[in-house]
Amino acid sequence: MSICCIRGAITVEENTRENILYNSKLLLNEIIKKNNININSINSVFFTATKDITKVYPAVAAREIGICEAGLMCVQEMFVEGSLEMCIRVLITANIDINQKDVKHVYMKNAKKLRPDLSDKKNICVAIDGPAGSGKSTIARIIAKELNFIYVDTGAMYRSVALYCINNNISTNDNKKIINILDNIDIKIDYINDIQNIFLNEENVTELIRNQIVADGASKVAAIKEVREKLVDIQRKIALNKDVIMDGRDIGTHVLPNAHVKIYLDASIDERTKRRCNELKENGIAFKEDEIKKEIVKRDNYDKNRKESPLKQAEDAIFIDTSSMKIEDVKNEIIKIIKRV
Ligand code: C5P
Repeated sequence: MSICCIRGAITVEENTRENILYNSKLLLNEIIKKNNININSINSVFFTATKDITKVYPAVAAREIGICEAGLMCVQEMFVEGSLEMCIRVLITANIDINQKDVKHVYMKNAKKLRPDLSDKKNICVAIDGPAGSGKSTIARIIAKELNFIYVDTGAMYRSVALYCINNNISTNDNKKIINILDNIDIKIDYINDIQNIFLNEENVTELIRNQIVADGASKVAAIKEVREKLVDIQRKIALNKDVIMDGRDIGTHVLPNAHVKIYLDASIDERTKRRCNELKENGIAFKEDEIKKEIVKRDNYDKNRKESPLKQAEDAIFIDTSSMKIEDVKNEIIKIIKRV
């Protein structure tokens, strides 16, 4: 047994005592059922409600379904522009027989929008994380084609934000300014002949973001919380109702914590450097191998040590070292895992 926290939210149709209590009970019962909770093991139930809910405290519903011994609390939420109206949120702590990472948070009615990643969807989500040059994008692209999934390269989104800054003479170190102009940045992805194309304020920047200056800038802007929030929102929406294979640094740990398959790819620094050098050679770009190695190490360190969603393997991710594996073998191994799910 361990003490777990379970979150939930629901919207109500009418600001009436009857409707508020009905929906609050619906939410509590669903949380109890999904997490197999014994009512007596609940320690506390903490509700918040938006300001437009005035007729009764949702905590009354908790008492009415028999949660009498637990600490009950209900507070009015601050008003946040653009947020859901007529919404009740709840946080339950209980002694249950599962780990915190396995609890089932419950979002119902319009409140489903708050956590699209948790919706009862039947589509498959595959998360692939790992450092630069680990083979994520090559592998993910091939698998997406073979299984007819959508491939989402989230790095391209961070690169596009960096490109916007570079084009507008904004330093990628100037967090304050970047946060201020974030609303001016519109990022969309679209698929042309099944290949992901990325649009920055309607301009197709798919090729323009593929250089070292943009990659370095991407790593800087990716450390800004507000930038991440904006892009994660787009990423989760894409995964809402499609089979996706998404690659990045925080997909398994943060963007899609309930992904059906989580893979963490890595390779030795020498192998990753070799791959990057081969890529540059193929594109006819001059390089110095030791410089490339230094750039990769620098970016890895930055991505792994930042505060916001650092690059790390999710606890439930499968680790694959691709250093001495052929692309075909990595692909086959991951497809086998996906098919098992
Ligand atoms: O994968 P790619 O090299 O295109 O990513 C560029 C940068 O974007 C990474 O170095 C990392 O800082 C950032 N990134 C991230 N989270 C993701 C994807 C990329 O922080 N999910």
